[in-house]
Amino acid sequence: MNIPEKVDIAIVGGGLVGVSLALALKDSGFNVAVIEAFTPTAPDHPAYDDRTLVLNPVSCQVLSRLGIGDALEQHGVPITSIHVSDRGRFGRVLLEADQHGLDWFGRVIEAWRLGQALLQLAQDCSQIHWLSPVRLDSIKSRDGNIELSLDGHGAITTRLLVGADGASSKVRDLLSLPATRHDYQQTAVICNATPGKAHQGRAYERFTTTGPLALLPQAGQRVGVVWTVSDQQAEDLLKMDDADFMARLQQRFGYRLGYFQRVGERTSYPLKLVRSDTNTAHRSVLIGNASHTIHPISAQGFNLGLRDAAALAECLQGQHDPGEAAVLQAYQQQRQADQDDTVRYTDTLARLYSNTSTTGRLLRTGGLLVHQFVPSLQRRLVLNAMGYRQHVS
Ligand SMILES: Cc1cc2nc3c(=O)[nH]c(=O)nc-3n(C[C@H](O)[C@H](O)[C@H](O)COP(=O)(O)OP(=O)(O)OC[C@H]3O[C@@H](n4cnc5c(N)ncnc54)[C@H](O)[C@@H]3O)c2cc1C
Repeated sequence: MNIPEKVDIAIVGGGLVGVSLALALKDSGFNVAVIEAFTPTAPDHPAYDDRTLVLNPVSCQVLSRLGIGDALEQHGVPITSIHVSDRGRFGRVLLEADQHGLDWFGRVIEAWRLGQALLQLAQDCSQIHWLSPVRLDSIKSRDGNIELSLDGHGAITTRLLVGADGASSKVRDLLSLPATRHDYQQTAVICNATPGKAHQGRAYERFTTTGPLALLPQAGQRVGVVWTVSDQQAEDLLKMDDADFMARLQQRFGYRLGYFQRVGERTSYPLKLVRSDTNTAHRSVLIGNASHTIHPISAQGFNLGLRDAAALAECLQGQHDPGEAAVLQAYQQQRQADQDDTVRYTDTLARLYSNTSTTGRLLRTGGLLVHQFVPSLQRRLVLNAMGYRQHVS
């Protein structure tokens, strides 16, 4: 591996957000390096696993502009309706895309498939130095720039350091940027399942006493299951054999899609909120999960991180010095409101829909009933639920 001595922009973290930023910068004229701890094809790559991602229409536009429109068309299953319900209560909302003047609300794609399409482009791109498996170890200031020490691979100097290295961001720690944290004491259990009836492009979000359960349409007859439960319940669900797990899923979800026939391997994610109090420092910026790791309840994490990447690339366009304080300040000003709103909205939903008190249940049922009858609120629910919060040109 050829490690350049100096680059204009070093992106630490080649997950979905880091690689998207690298692609967005490919025609910027800047010399860009991506430093990633895992090889792209590593079976245990934490960023490119089986999790099912809902991409909103803005994200689909951004990703198409990055050059993976065909892969999205081919593998991204369109959501044409959304069914939201509260198990054992009256509240229920059915949102149909055509009634909101849309062809679809979003597309569903597995993280590894999306990663594969983005990585292929990035690795074919001569302007991007792809350094993996390489881990960032430490940083220090050097002649006004930043020198990164790479574990076992020497050092590289950069004019701008981008931390796209996820929830436990090493860059955030090395810059001593404080972060606010909250442990939801919940775990998302995910798997694929094959129901008896065709999903017909419908996404289901069902609120149950143990937490929200989402079923997302996938290619063929399959659905992606994202089931949020307490940490203890997750342990039980992970230990069960397939038949018992399927029976529990059936009991929680009901029979709208008939009888479940099969379930795939289960994996789990402990759910925490991590919000960096500040995203910029001298010649440095945090984006994606390194800046804000949020609850998956409304499918917003990657959509939000992609908006960070698109906005940062836009702010850097035509700049002489990518690490200049004024450029980073402009970026942060542009992103602040969207980041704050999305974190607040998601956190509120996560707490409300995990609340088992009578007041919590009444609020939820009331909310769903109101949304059932008020079209403008439905529209808002559509936009928020699908992560459609801010246009990035
Ligand atoms: C169950 C679940 C469901 C979700 N569903 C959705 C959804 O439907 N829609 C949506 O928009 N979002 C969803 N999300 C959120 C989404 O998955 C994340 O927001 C997104 O993947 C974060 O990408 P990232 O690139 O910022 O971080 P990461 O994916 O964490 O990538 C960070 C990268 O940095 C690398 N790295 C870390 N430290 C170092 C180091 N020291 N040196 C070098 N490299 C390093 C890691 O190897 C990794 O590749 C979901 C999340 C979960 C858990």
